[in-house]
Amino acid sequence: MVAGSDQANIGQFVEQLKEFLEFQKDRGRPFLPWSKKNRETSESSNRHPGPIESLQALSRVILGCQKCRLFRHRRQAVPGEGSLPVCLMFIGEGPGFEEDQQGRPFVGPAGQLLTKMIKAIDLNREEVYITNVVKCRPPENRPPLEDEVEACRPFLEEEIRLINPQLLVTLGSCATQTMTRTQKKISDLRGRLLKVNGRRLIATYHPAYLLRNPGAKREAWEDLKRVRREYDELEK
Ligand code: SF4
Repeated sequence: MVAGSDQANIGQFVEQLKEFLEFQKDRGRPFLPWSKKNRETSESSNRHPGPIESLQALSRVILGCQKCRLFRHRRQAVPGEGSLPVCLMFIGEGPGFEEDQQGRPFVGPAGQLLTKMIKAIDLNREEVYITNVVKCRPPENRPPLEDEVEACRPFLEEEIRLINPQLLVTLGSCATQTMTRTQKKISDLRGRLLKVNGRRLIATYHPAYLLRNPGAKREAWEDLKRVRREYDELEK
């Protein structure tokens, strides 16, 4: 028979264990790391998804993905959007509140500015593909952590493989550093023609940054004009 004080201790221990397991989950270490079953689950969930035959199939995989802790905070995952074929792909950081609600990329205030930026170079959203580095909204819109970026990177790579865009435009530091695999600042890389895996890449500021820093719109406009010039080159 268990005495009252022992029961209280056991209850306290169970609560502490629950907290520990939640903490481990938040750090991307679900359940008990020494369990063989969970080691296998963790290893298989970190595997590259492998070649996927269509964007629709890729979207289905993304919508069910639980590879990183961000799945626990999302309302829904947000795959990229655009009809094929396109030669221009915009890559942002991750979904925000509105994107998480609607399941579509760049539909909040920053998305409205991106739509205007695309129109400013005489294109519309249907003529480009728009996606993000991570497909699930980070809590409180914080930047994605390095392991979250790496967990989601295979999906971005699959999107690029399936769409085969000749010109990439990265929006902000996270997308630019992810694509160039550098830690350089966006201010050092923006507006220049870069090459990544044989594709042209131009980095510019994220529209959310431009909303907070309207003074940077002039530089962003220069970047966009460069994007348009490269686009015209590809269309020849
Ligand atoms: S952010 Fe990417 S890797 Fe993480 S759960 Fe969402 S889709 Fe999966």
